Amino acid sequence: MALCCDCEALDEAFERFITCKPVQPNTCSRIMETITDHLRVPWCDGQGARKLDPDILMAAVLLLTTMFIASQSWTATIVVFGLLPFLLIATYIRYLKIRTQTKFFFAWTVLSFSFLLGIFQFEVVPYLEILFSENFILMCFVAIMCLCGYLTKQGPGQPPNGEVSDQEEGAIKDAVNLVIEDQKTKCRVCSIHQPHRCSHCRICNQCVLRRDHHCVWLDCCIGAKNHRYFIIGLVALIIVCCYGANLTLTTICQPKLVWGTVYLPDSCNDVYGDIHIAMCFVSAVYALLIAALAVLALGQQLWFICCNTTVQEWRRGRQGHYSHGILCNCWKFWCGGNL
Ligand SMILES: [Zn+2]
Ligand SMILES: [Zn+2]
Repeated sequence: MALCCDCEALDEAFERFITCKPVQPNTCSRIMETITDHLRVPWCDGQGARKLDPDILMAAVLLLTTMFIASQSWTATIVVFGLLPFLLIATYIRYLKIRTQTKFFFAWTVLSFSFLLGIFQFEVVPYLEILFSENFILMCFVAIMCLCGYLTKQGPGQPPNGEVSDQEEGAIKDAVNLVIEDQKTKCRVCSIHQPHRCSHCRICNQCVLRRDHHCVWLDCCIGAKNHRYFIIGLVALIIVCCYGANLTLTTICQPKLVWGTVYLPDSCNDVYGDIHIAMCFVSAVYALLIAALAVLALGQQLWFICCNTTVQEWRRGRQGHYSHGILCNCWKFWCGGNL
């Protein structure tokens, strides 16, 4: 074999290919393992180069390619950002069928915000059109968004391992806004008693108290403990995206004063002449697309909070089962116990 690679699986696959023999079923996974083992980046903790997750690499390549193609013309921007949500949804549906841990969506989230923030600070701010106070306000909301993301990632709340005492059960009921129901179920995977509204997440491989859904964009479950941070983070995300996009567009396009106080972009016809300005423009369009999708998600979440229903219960047709009226539901969600 004259292949310039020390991957035995690839050598074997090539040999089988030229001798017209069928390839073994596990050959692809063995080739992927070798590629993953060779993908390493230099690291500074004195323990040598670290493995680079192919999901992270794929997200980075896909994001940069998307932004580059979108910055070529109006048509490219419309086509790319028109197709992007469908492409991500298709990837998500495929992922739901496999239900394994993947860093792709979380990497996409982190890389997208790093990219948007980098473009804003290093491409838009140097035009000196943005006031320090405007940049400061935007960065405060970015900090709130990141803090909420971090707190959400700290965990959704798990049931105690072992038998649940009456006191703990009472605390759990209080925190997850329960009506009194006395059936107890045992998780077949974790072998622990599940309190009411608790269910097992096959992706996180753990039981989650008042599980709402598994958020692929943060790579964690949303449950009793982190649901409020998730909602505040969504609000901060929408403000960051809308405000950042408006600051960017009023810098690179012709600004127009509306109602004597607010500047809005007026004409953005010349943005594709320079790649730097085009990148600023597509990053603003991308931020607006994220904001639009976040508004839909927030609307759904607020509706479920008003009904004291989780996404999980809604999918199972149990919406309204735990409702005590809108005001009481909202009060319990925002001011109820926190496990
Ligand atoms: Zn479980
Ligand atoms: Zn999960």
